Amino acid sequence: MKKYDLIVVGAGPAGLLAAKAAGDAGLEVALVERKSDVTHLDRLCGQTLVSLNDYYFDDLVYYNRRGKKMGFSKNGFSFAYDGPVKNCHAWHLFSPNGSCIPFGIPEETRKKGDDGAIGLAFDKEILFKCMLQEAEEAGVDIFPGININEVSTTPQGVTASGSGKTFEGSYLIAADGANSRIARILGFNKDRSFYSYLLTKGGYLSNVKAPAPDLMVSSFTYKPVAPGYMFMIPRVYDDQSTIAFISLDPRVNLDDVVNYFMRENPFFAEWFKSSEWVKQLAFSQYIYTPVITPYKDRVLLAGDTGSSQELENSGAMISGWKAGNAIAAAVKEDKVGIASQGISHYLDWWKRVYLEGHRHEDYLMNFAMPYVIDTEEDINYIFSLIKDPMPPCWNPYAVIKYLGQTIQSIIPTIQEERPQILPKLAKMSQPMTEILEPTTKACKPLLELD
Ligand SMILES: Cc1cc2nc3c(=O)[nH]c(=O)nc-3n(C[C@H](O)[C@H](O)[C@H](O)COP(=O)(O)OP(=O)(O)OC[C@H]3O[C@@H](n4cnc5c(N)ncnc54)[C@H](O)[C@@H]3O)c2cc1C
Repeated sequence: MKKYDLIVVGAGPAGLLAAKAAGDAGLEVALVERKSDVTHLDRLCGQTLVSLNDYYFDDLVYYNRRGKKMGFSKNGFSFAYDGPVKNCHAWHLFSPNGSCIPFGIPEETRKKGDDGAIGLAFDKEILFKCMLQEAEEAGVDIFPGININEVSTTPQGVTASGSGKTFEGSYLIAADGANSRIARILGFNKDRSFYSYLLTKGGYLSNVKAPAPDLMVSSFTYKPVAPGYMFMIPRVYDDQSTIAFISLDPRVNLDDVVNYFMRENPFFAEWFKSSEWVKQLAFSQYIYTPVITPYKDRVLLAGDTGSSQELENSGAMISGWKAGNAIAAAVKEDKVGIASQGISHYLDWWKRVYLEGHRHEDYLMNFAMPYVIDTEEDINYIFSLIKDPMPPCWNPYAVIKYLGQTIQSIIPTIQEERPQILPKLAKMSQPMTEILEPTTKACKPLLELD
C-alpha cells in the first residue's frame, strides 16, 4: 500500500487548501472526501467571503477580478476562482418590529465600488471546482465517496479507513468540518464543553423584495418557545438570495420560524410576497467550545473541525492553508533531522489569532442577544434608541464589539426611561455557558461528545 506523507480528510475549503499547500511543497498527499462529487455543495452556506473591509483572522482577504483569484495578503497565498461574484455593501440587523441597526449604508459604501464592499458573494460549487483543479495540479491524489470512520495512530504514522478503503500516512489533517468524527474518535473533544445545537433550514429564494439587492439582512423572533433567527444574503445569480432560518434549541419547530418571517410578521412578510424557492437545503451541528490544542499523535485539525460553530469560509481557508504548510515543514524537518517548528507555529497561530484574537464567546453573542434581552418589547425599544449608523461590517466578531460600545452609550437613556432593562443588559458580561443555559439544558439528552 502506498504510504502518503499526508492524508487530508474532508474536501471543504480547509481540506482543499491544506492538500494544495502540501502538494505544492512536494508532499505525497491523499485527499479523502465523503461526498461522491467533491464539487457538490450539499448543505446550506451563505457563500460569502467574510470579511472584505477589515482584518479577519489576522489577514485581509481579497478578490482580484482581473486575475480571477481569491487571496490573503498577509499570509501570502491565492487561488483561482473563475465564477461570478457580487459585492455586498452593508449588513442590516432588524428588530422584530423592523427597526434597523445598519452596519453600513449601501448608498454610501457603493460609491467606493469594490473597496466599499464588506463581503463578497460567490458560488461555492465553482469555488470547489477551482480548488479541486489546483489540488490536482499540485499532484494530490483525490479519493471521493469515502467516509472515513476509523483512524489509528502510531509513533510513525496514521492509518485512516472507511468505505472499504485504507490509507496510510505519516501525518493526517482532519478537515472534516464541524462535529468532526475524527476529532471525536481521537479524543480531541474530551475537554470541550457543549453549548447547543445549531439547526438550520433554508436555501435559495428568488424574487425577494429586500430593501436592497446588495444587503445582508438578519433578524430574530421570540415567537417560538426559544429564539429563532433569519439570515438573508445576496446570491450571485439574478435576483436570488440565500436564506437561513436557524434555532439553537430543538424544541423550536423551524417551520414556525420560516412562517413567522415569510408570512406572519407584517414588516418582513412584505418582502416574501412573490418569492419562490429555487432550492432548499439544511444544516445541523452541535456547538462546542473550541479545541485548545488542535494537534496530537500526528493528527492536526484544520478549519471548522476544531472550532466553535464555524471559522467562516475565510477562516477555514487560512487555517487549511497554514495546516498544509505546517505538515510540509514537519515532513521536511523529519527527513533532514532538524528540530520541529512547523506544527508549533500552527499551534501558536491557533492560540493567538483564534482562541485569543477571535473569542468564540463574541461570535456566539450574535446568537445570544435574544437570550440576553429576552422580550420582543425590550429589544424593539433598544433598537429604537440606536440612531447612528454603525461602521460597515460583515465580521461577526467585530459587529458585537460595535454593538457593545453603542449599547454603553445609550445606558443613561435606558436608566432614565426603562431601568428594569439594565439587569438584563448586565447579563452580556456573564459566561456564555450561563447565557445559553436554557437551550443547553434542552439539548443535553442527545449530547454525544466522545
Ligand atoms: C447556514 C450557514 C451559513 C453560512 N454562511 C457563511 C457565509 O456566508 N460566509 C462564510 O464565510 N461562511 C459561512 N458559513 C460557514 C462555512 O460554511 C464554514 O465555516 C466552512 O465551510 C468551513 O470549511 P471547512 O473546510 O472547515 O469544513 P466543511 O466545509 O464543513 O467541509 C468538511 C468536509 O469534510 C467532509 N467530511 C465530513 N466527514 C467526513 C468523513 N468522515 N470522511 C470524509 N469526508 C468527510 C464533508 O463532506 C465536507 O466536504 C455558513 C455556515 C452555515 C451553517
